[in-house]
Amino acid sequence: MSIYASKHFKFNEFKCPCPKCRKKKVRVSSLLLFKLEEMIIIIDEGLNYHRPVIVLSGNRCEEENKRIGGFPGSEHIPAPDGEAADIKVVGIKPLDLGLIAEKVGGLRIGIAKWGIHVDVKPPCPSKFWIYLGGKIIYSGPIENNNLIEFYQKITGKGGEKTDD
Ligand SMILES: [Zn+2]
Ligand SMILES: [Zn+2]
Repeated sequence: MSIYASKHFKFNEFKCPCPKCRKKKVRVSSLLLFKLEEMIIIIDEGLNYHRPVIVLSGNRCEEENKRIGGFPGSEHIPAPDGEAADIKVVGIKPLDLGLIAEKVGGLRIGIAKWGIHVDVKPPCPSKFWIYLGGKIIYSGPIENNNLIEFYQKITGKGGEKTDD
């Protein structure tokens, strides 16, 4: 089955990887898909060709979320729709991808080594976070306005170099 959920994404890309969910229906928030498609427009405009956004994690059932050590009550757990995606784009640094997500707006953004987490939940209270050495550092309401400033403050890096 390869049914498209939106222009560039198939439902299967958002499937919970656990064996129990093999036949479970994939539920993805249409708002999230809309935001991801907006990101693709910005990415493709910047590159002048299409580069796929790879979904590393979409839906997760409670058990799978627990198994991988996800945040309890994660937006990855469909309720009823999954409202989060962990994504990467080959050749684009996670911070740069995060800045594209920030440009799209209406997304909470987590920056990791492997890529970024995005979800469509309003800030509560943080809008940004960084996965750093097994810990998560949250922006909090004071630093919700500017991802690059928050990132620089936490990592001490300008964003040109990511050697972590
Ligand atoms: Zn599952
Ligand atoms: Zn995530």
